[in-house]
Amino acid sequence: MVDVHKHDIIIVGGGAAGLRAAIAAVEADPQVSVALVSKVYPMRSHTVSAEGGAAAVARPDDSLEMHGYDTVKGSDFLGDQDVIEYFVEEAPKELTRLEHWGCPWSRNDDGSVATRAFGGMTTKRTWYASDKVGFHMLHSLFQHSMQFDRIVRYDERFVTQLLIEDDGIKGVSALDVRTGNIEVFQARAVILATGGGGKIFPFTTNGNIKTGDGMALAYRNGVPLKDMEFVQYHPTGLPGTGILITEATRGEGGHLINSEGERFLVAYDYGVGNKAELGPRDMISRAIIQEIEAGRGLPGTYGEYVHLDLRHLGEDKIMKRLPFVRELATTYVGVDPVTTPIPIRPVVHYMMGGVDTDIDGLTRVGGLFAAGETACVSLNGANRLGSNSLTECLVFGARAGQRAVALSKETSDGNDVALRKRGFEEQERIDTLRGKKKGGEKLSHVRREMTTSMERGCGVYRTQDTMDATVQEIAQLKGRFADIALQDDSRVFNTEIIAALELGNMLDVAEAVANSAAYRKESRGAHTRRDHPTRDDQNYLHHTLVHFDPAGPRIDTSQVRLGHWEPEERKY
Ligand SMILES: Cc1cc2nc3c(=O)[nH]c(=O)nc-3n(C[C@H](O)[C@H](O)[C@H](O)COP(=O)(O)OP(=O)(O)OC[C@H]3O[C@@H](n4cnc5c(N)ncnc54)[C@H](O)[C@@H]3O)c2cc1C
Repeated sequence: MVDVHKHDIIIVGGGAAGLRAAIAAVEADPQVSVALVSKVYPMRSHTVSAEGGAAAVARPDDSLEMHGYDTVKGSDFLGDQDVIEYFVEEAPKELTRLEHWGCPWSRNDDGSVATRAFGGMTTKRTWYASDKVGFHMLHSLFQHSMQFDRIVRYDERFVTQLLIEDDGIKGVSALDVRTGNIEVFQARAVILATGGGGKIFPFTTNGNIKTGDGMALAYRNGVPLKDMEFVQYHPTGLPGTGILITEATRGEGGHLINSEGERFLVAYDYGVGNKAELGPRDMISRAIIQEIEAGRGLPGTYGEYVHLDLRHLGEDKIMKRLPFVRELATTYVGVDPVTTPIPIRPVVHYMMGGVDTDIDGLTRVGGLFAAGETACVSLNGANRLGSNSLTECLVFGARAGQRAVALSKETSDGNDVALRKRGFEEQERIDTLRGKKKGGEKLSHVRREMTTSMERGCGVYRTQDTMDATVQEIAQLKGRFADIALQDDSRVFNTEIIAALELGNMLDVAEAVANSAAYRKESRGAHTRRDHPTRDDQNYLHHTLVHFDPAGPRIDTSQVRLGHWEPEERKY
């Protein structure tokens, strides 16, 4: 028996992008029926852990032009400018709407919305709710979504396949984690809002659920992944766990200090003025690595690190603006930032690349959309500015939701019998895999070798040799993954089978990142090569597209949509 659920639209993912898309869909048409399918309870989506804030023009000294320019420049001119213009226009409307739905934005004394500085933004543009922004945003979205009966939630369902027919997508299959049963979800439009895939790296701020599932599903079904070589390192993660210490610490005046006690960023001027701690993430991450390579790092169990010093901010300010940072540092590294600097190192944070979509979030498979971190609508180009991502989830989640409604009206349902058959086949595949004791490989070994190889080949600094080696290693690991052995054959809450499915997805995403990186022979944004240290607009001012092929990935390119901001050297 395979249960079948019929809806008009399926949204995979209950983070900011998924919830915003669901609300937009039912608001666009109160008759439309939306399935919100998520592998975890929506409030456990990674969005909940965002700390620093969401960007939108709010102050009289700011303008859409400035937000647009900062984003284009931050992207190292690889962001599509029509996308960026739409984004900056919609951003203030979305954040205001979120307040009407209950998001408690912090305030200035005069009652206006408070904004903080973020790297690469020329003025204070980042709205915040203390330093628990993602929690408050996701809560507001989740609670608002509950008033709509037409949004039906299917929690703890792991989507395993996209069900595609000749004229487009007709549904998905999902594993009910509680029962071990495969279910078929039928619809005429599907939005992937499955978040990023930072877990392909060893040290990351990303939650364990960020395994690139949506990217892998789209990739295996004929949708290329775009700009995958651009992986953002956040300069300030805790060594070992990778837990994020928000950029707001620097926005509020924190300093980075090397082993000699120097505020070293003062010596790195990124080209023009001296932004020091307010430089963009890619440049600060590189500066930290350079300090460590020059022998000015501090030794630690997980490699060398430097210090983030907040002591001069004083206890009052730390407790008012950064209470969560104090809690994290105290709990996870035993350091109270009021009296002691926090050890930090660059850790993988965000993927600029993702599922290739147009400005509506639509992919080249009919009816299949993507939004949020899993998509590459091409806002972030080669480097995302901190605090643009939460806003992106709202702006493009909403747009995808609205477009999916319109498109679902023009499309016909899939073939019931054929879809149910696909469900049976999928149940059989999962049953065979579950408790598959024959096989020579352990999940944990393959996963560890993948993450180590990714950091070695596609870390902060890259060279052709190291990237090529990682391309080879990932290909071999994919082969070894086919010979995996699983111990647990129970059906109920079998987390081992989920880990196996996730590892399969991560290997595809890792393949896409490594191959795209090895292709791009220039340095741009987060993609920094020692052997090609400068940007090459002549040959590489284009998006990278990587296509899945069982014989090995294929690289292709697409044009960057420029506009009135002309490419120039990126300086801060
Ligand atoms: C620690 C941290 C702090 C951050 N701070 C900020 C910040 O201050 N400002 C900012 O702009 N950005 C920040 N970011 C980035 C930003 O939070 C994320 O990019 C954004 O929240 C992603 O939202 P999303 O809706 O795309 O995905 P997520 O919130 O990651 O949600 C993904 C959803 O997809 C579901 N899903 C995934 N795979 C499957 C599957 N196979 N089947 C079914 N469901 C599936 C999950 O259950 C989940 O509900 C931060 C990121 C991190 C990691």
